[in-house]
Amino acid sequence: MIRTRTPLLAGNWKMWGTRSEAAALSTALTAVVGRTPGREVMIAPPFTALEVVRSVIDGSAIQLGAQNLHWEPKGAFTGEISAPMLVEAGCTYVIIGHSERRQLFGELDAGVNLKTRAALRAGLAPVICVGETLPERDAGETLGRVQAQLDAAIAGVSAADLARCLIAYEPVWAIGTGRTATPAQAQEVHAFIRARLAAGHPSLAASIRILYGGSMKPDNVRALMAEVDVDGGLVGGASLQAESFVRMVREGS
Ligand code: PEP
Repeated sequence: MIRTRTPLLAGNWKMWGTRSEAAALSTALTAVVGRTPGREVMIAPPFTALEVVRSVIDGSAIQLGAQNLHWEPKGAFTGEISAPMLVEAGCTYVIIGHSERRQLFGELDAGVNLKTRAALRAGLAPVICVGETLPERDAGETLGRVQAQLDAAIAGVSAADLARCLIAYEPVWAIGTGRTATPAQAQEVHAFIRARLAAGHPSLAASIRILYGGSMKPDNVRALMAEVDVDGGLVGGASLQAESFVRMVREGS
């Protein structure tokens, strides 16, 4: 298969990693996958570790990402971090609408849209997460749910800005559960997302990267990424060990 989209392996460290732990993990990654032809690598540590990770990966090809942001550039929003602050911290990517944010922190589609637009205004590449719960899948609502989340997230986004977005399909039932979508299940939804993007932006859809997330591991990454519309992975648990994340960066077709 000839790939026209550079695969991205993105590590979502969630709320793991003190500054010293983050420095150790990013040092190990930089030594081995700091420059990997044909692959892009991004790591998203907790906010408090952004600065130290930035200094470690500086000069390598590894990109820095954040796990969330607020849509306003500044203001009285206790506990929040804005897009310009992330840019200043060295981020080029930001994960938006992760299912943990939706489920545990009440994040809604409208907020995902505001965050996406704020990220784009600041020059960040948003990684927009969509995905169905197990009851939604069992009820045959997977594609409808994904379509609703996707449409809401990119509402009002121009074609030029959409070109900088990535979509992560993350079935909620597969996140942190050890249960992975089969390659065929992933491909079905990825193809649907690409078709949906093509409906609004026919010339763009083929170039937008669609990542899979949900218990992606060294032993399943190759099969998932062999699917024509799977352009890499958003990896949680398996990105916390240098050895497994390195294997994942190197695996895949
Ligand atoms: C995630 O947090 O985006 C994720 C996919 O987690 P895990 O790989 O642990 O399932």
